[in-house]
Amino acid sequence: MRYFSLSATRVNTERLLTHNMLQCHVKNCRPNESFPLTIKDPELERTEAEFNPDFMRGLVPKLDWTALRKTAGALGLGDLPAEMPEATDEFLQMLHALVLETRVVSGSMVCDVCHHVFPITNGIPNMLLQADEV
Ligand SMILES: [Zn+2]
Repeated sequence: MRYFSLSATRVNTERLLTHNMLQCHVKNCRPNESFPLTIKDPELERTEAEFNPDFMRGLVPKLDWTALRKTAGALGLGDLPAEMPEATDEFLQMLHALVLETRVVSGSMVCDVCHHVFPITNGIPNMLLQADEV
């Protein structure tokens, strides 16, 4: 699993940023092939967060654009261009709204390779595995 540091109280909530960092970690699964996890039955919520252009500029190179584009399209949040645009303020604000302010409150994430289902409850993804999946 790739890890990205956010403030401790926020790291576990299922924002699209978090989703962009999560991979299936079931034993013998192929995380590169199953990334990004498919979001099923999502209930989405928009929570306002303060826009910090410097933070966003630092975040841009850490994002998996292809995965974000796929997820945004699947969730009906807009068609992102195939190539990540230049980091103008306008783009960074759009990105901020998409990855930091958009949360999946409930639903699940499904691995397309091993079909493991990671439930999302109250905005928190449950990434725990059964003993035989570790
Ligand atoms: Zn898997």
